[in-house]
Amino acid sequence: MKILVLNSGSSSIKYKLFDISKKKALVAGIADRIGETGSSIKHTLLSAESKEKTTTIKEPLPDHQSGLSKIADLLFDKELGILKSSNEIVAVGHRVVHGGEKFSRPVVVDNGILEDLYKISHLAPLHNPANLKGIEVASQVFPDAKQIAVFDTAFHQTMPDYVFHYAIPETYYKDDGLRVYGFHGTSHQYVSKAAARYCDIPTGEFNAISIHLGNGCSMSAIKGGKSIDTTMGLTPLGGLIMGTRSGDIDPSLILLLGKNHNMTFDEVDRLLNKESGLKGLTGSNDFRDVISKYDRKDAAAILAVEMYVYRIRKYIGAYAVVLGHLDAIIFTAGVGENSALIREKISEGLQIIQTQLDNEKNKNKATGIKELQSTESKVKILVVPTNEELEIAEQVSELLIAKNN
Ligand code: ADP
Repeated sequence: MKILVLNSGSSSIKYKLFDISKKKALVAGIADRIGETGSSIKHTLLSAESKEKTTTIKEPLPDHQSGLSKIADLLFDKELGILKSSNEIVAVGHRVVHGGEKFSRPVVVDNGILEDLYKISHLAPLHNPANLKGIEVASQVFPDAKQIAVFDTAFHQTMPDYVFHYAIPETYYKDDGLRVYGFHGTSHQYVSKAAARYCDIPTGEFNAISIHLGNGCSMSAIKGGKSIDTTMGLTPLGGLIMGTRSGDIDPSLILLLGKNHNMTFDEVDRLLNKESGLKGLTGSNDFRDVISKYDRKDAAAILAVEMYVYRIRKYIGAYAVVLGHLDAIIFTAGVGENSALIREKISEGLQIIQTQLDNEKNKNKATGIKELQSTESKVKILVVPTNEELEIAEQVSELLIAKNN
């Protein structure tokens, strides 16, 4: 059974083809600069027997339709592809950023569902329209496959009402849907399930704090395998300090930027989403650059790292209290999986929640799930590499199996 996973953005389409019975990715790639000059497709055949084979094709891709058609040509290509007939792909799984309150699990997309999804697009205007475009185009390019949407917000739909409400008049929640949704749900779900399996605890009894530190950063408090709180809010801007996003701020800052600097809402939006976070503090949004500046004792980088770490530690404390009992703290994504320095700094003084890092184990560079706590620690500290595409493919497969039974 082959499932194609698509992440369709405004000018790119990322794709990964899975043989789900073997839990194996066969092909991965990205069509980039769609609708712009210099568009290209980077296509990698991930075969177990031979080495990975990457081909880059440069050609005009004026729109998503031409991008996905070209991707399909590559998947069927005798040398570069792996497919022989179009009905080999049973389903296309689409990453959709926002599912609003209506979608708390994956859904087979038909015209009615697509209409519902367009109705909530205002909640994620930068992401959802491009995600939905991907669904429309895929239903034309792969007409025999089911189109299934998997939502970044879905995992957090189990948050209690006193967590997801903002303390503003109720009408803005009821009429406009303004509430906490949370994002990175596919990643938090994947790593927490993998961690529960690793700890040999049934998912329904597993309590953890999941810390996703990539370009975007978020944490989730997971109780009995379900998200009960998360750091991002109505949009992915809230919570932790990120590559280019500010994370939590006092909302009055927005008013003062408008009043004192004559900034429009769009300009403030851009400032907080694209020019803030590590980039605003140090000039670079890439954590490796920040760390090398930090190592050279650059004052701005030292402050940025201290702020970044402090915010995470503050949420660990908060989540430990609301969870009551903790089985594991999970680090994942680019920074969480790779930066021993950040894990060490975050873990300082966690004895108060019966958690202690082993500094030697923390330096272990092995791949896969790693256990980093000391022998005295009551709580496991784990690195779990995230795999959002595999999680989407698995959720798609589970939905297909449930529909056939
Ligand atoms: P995305 O959110 O785009 O999926 P990733 O999970 O790939 O991002 O994380 C990207 C971030 O991880 C970048 O800031 C990058 O600098 C950082 N990163 C990758 N490798 C390392 C490393 N060895 N040490 C520190 N940071 C790293």
